[in-house]
Amino acid sequence: MQKIAAIGGHLIIIGLLTLFTQTGGVVWLAHLPLFYWINKRNASTFWRFVAKTVSFSTLYLLANIFLVPPLARWQSGRVPLPVFANANLKPHQVFYFAALNHHYVRPEVKASCDRVAKGLAAKFPGAQVFYLDANFPFFDGYPLHPHFTHRNGTTVDIALHWQEKASGLPIAGAPFPLAYGFSEPPMPGEVDMEAKCQNKYRSIEYRITKKLVEPDRYKLDEARTRELIKLFAEDKSVQKILLEPHLKQRLDLTKYDKIRFQGCKAARHDDHIHVIW
Ligand SMILES: [Zn+2]
Repeated sequence: MQKIAAIGGHLIIIGLLTLFTQTGGVVWLAHLPLFYWINKRNASTFWRFVAKTVSFSTLYLLANIFLVPPLARWQSGRVPLPVFANANLKPHQVFYFAALNHHYVRPEVKASCDRVAKGLAAKFPGAQVFYLDANFPFFDGYPLHPHFTHRNGTTVDIALHWQEKASGLPIAGAPFPLAYGFSEPPMPGEVDMEAKCQNKYRSIEYRITKKLVEPDRYKLDEARTRELIKLFAEDKSVQKILLEPHLKQRLDLTKYDKIRFQGCKAARHDDHIHVIW
């Protein structure tokens, strides 16, 4: 009975790690001999837990740094977006978007993001492009939960730019750690897809995150956001950009056919843009 419970526990951990990191489940399997060795040597449950957490995290990190990039390049042709190497192009949150392997793309996608980041910094010195979810490292068709279209290394979500209302100064990234959910809703008189779609699901994340931070402290940095989206739209390799219609209108981007509405059933795009190559 104890053995069945142990196997069940491992399977749950492997499932969760695979769901959130793609590679973590395999690393957990590779870590099992060390797991049982630690179990034998330590009497205290607390110290066993600490030792196993440290040993697994170390193994996971080493695998992610040294093994995953060359294997991904070989298996799916994907490369990681820069984590610390490019001052102008960064993950919005290092743990969630990079350590969990959410930052793999085709090499031409990385090159395009590099160009946009360089272009944005040329216009606004010090401005950075913050990426959100991109793709897992391996297997075309394997989606990055919960986005079912992030599956082939050719899609990246990018954070919008924000500023403090009182000072007008830009802030680094969105006011919320994962950026998703901190939206810029339609103003009176603007096209309101929220009302047209009547889809409650689309506004759930928005309502939750706006309650967690001080929504009135920040507003959309329209100049930087416009330039960011314009640079992606003008990059020849970019196929499509998903953005809510009220922002396309407000930011004077209506001449770009690549910028589209995602439809009523998908998550809203006034907290980030979804770029497709
Ligand atoms: Zn997306």
